[in-house]
Amino acid sequence: MKAGFFRQHGGLDVLEYGDLAEPVAGPDEVLVRIRAAALNHLDLFVREGLPGLKLNMPHIGGCDIAGEIAAVGEGVTGWNEGQRVIVNPNIWCGQCEFCIAGEETLCDSYGVLGEHQTGGLAQYIAVPARNVYAIPADYSFEQAAAVPLVWMTAWRALIGQAQLRAGQSVLILGAGGGVASAAIQIARYAGATVYAASRSPEKLARAKELGADYVLRSDGDWGREIWQQTNKRGVDVVLENVGAATWESSLRSVAKGGTVVTYGATTGPIVNIDIRKLFWRQFNLIGSTMANNREFNTIMRLVFWERRFEPLVDKVFPLSELQAAHAYLESAEQFGKVVIAIP
Ligand SMILES: [Zn+2]
Repeated sequence: MKAGFFRQHGGLDVLEYGDLAEPVAGPDEVLVRIRAAALNHLDLFVREGLPGLKLNMPHIGGCDIAGEIAAVGEGVTGWNEGQRVIVNPNIWCGQCEFCIAGEETLCDSYGVLGEHQTGGLAQYIAVPARNVYAIPADYSFEQAAAVPLVWMTAWRALIGQAQLRAGQSVLILGAGGGVASAAIQIARYAGATVYAASRSPEKLARAKELGADYVLRSDGDWGREIWQQTNKRGVDVVLENVGAATWESSLRSVAKGGTVVTYGATTGPIVNIDIRKLFWRQFNLIGSTMANNREFNTIMRLVFWERRFEPLVDKVFPLSELQAAHAYLESAEQFGKVVIAIP
């Protein structure tokens, strides 16, 4: 089968396009004929190598998968060849205390398809049948592939973890990123007032179109701006993924008793915190990663079956141009997802 992969970690030049062996659906698995897969920043980090990440080479990346069921393995019921699906990228054991409690992302065996295991930048993948999710016939594979990872991440961070509610206010950093553009729409849907920050005026204009009430240039003193715009109150929720570069301003922007929820550390993972401000202002600091299966099902239903949101595709590349697609994602010029069309 045709695949985009790498045999060693490194820069763009380690990416190859060629033929690899086609997988077979084992017991309780389905074989998916992939039609589109989306890239995430995670794909760049995995290509470059992450501490503690040991991969079987060659590695096929791509955590966001849309396609059709091509075969069903032994013991699989309820799925048929030709059904259109996306793939839940969660990998979990199903037996530990966290899995039993429905918190799969806390499982010791937790992983992500495309990161810890073979992903979707290929014509076929065999996945557990419990991971496939049916999508409507009129939903394009390109747009469907743009959904799973960023929408599940934004949903858990804002709704599951930070418990954003109607009438509250939220600051979303890095408007333009896949999670942030999903988060703007989810926050509006939740009935919150949305502040969006970005360094790019073009991205701020797009954020407004998506429903942001207020936009801020993140290269200015936006911590102070938020403070002024909210009458020295701050916002109820700050959605953080930038890390070191924005941390101080993020903490400054959160209201007393509010919540800073972080799901990334793009500019660096080590930050300072003044504990006196934490206890005196009594705000919450919480982490969030991906989403549990219940949250995944909720947000996928809202996106695919209730059509509440508009998943954004910025650009589609053919699989043979995977290097160019990685380079484009690295340039951070996109607004919405970079999607790979599978031949
Ligand atoms: Zn488990």
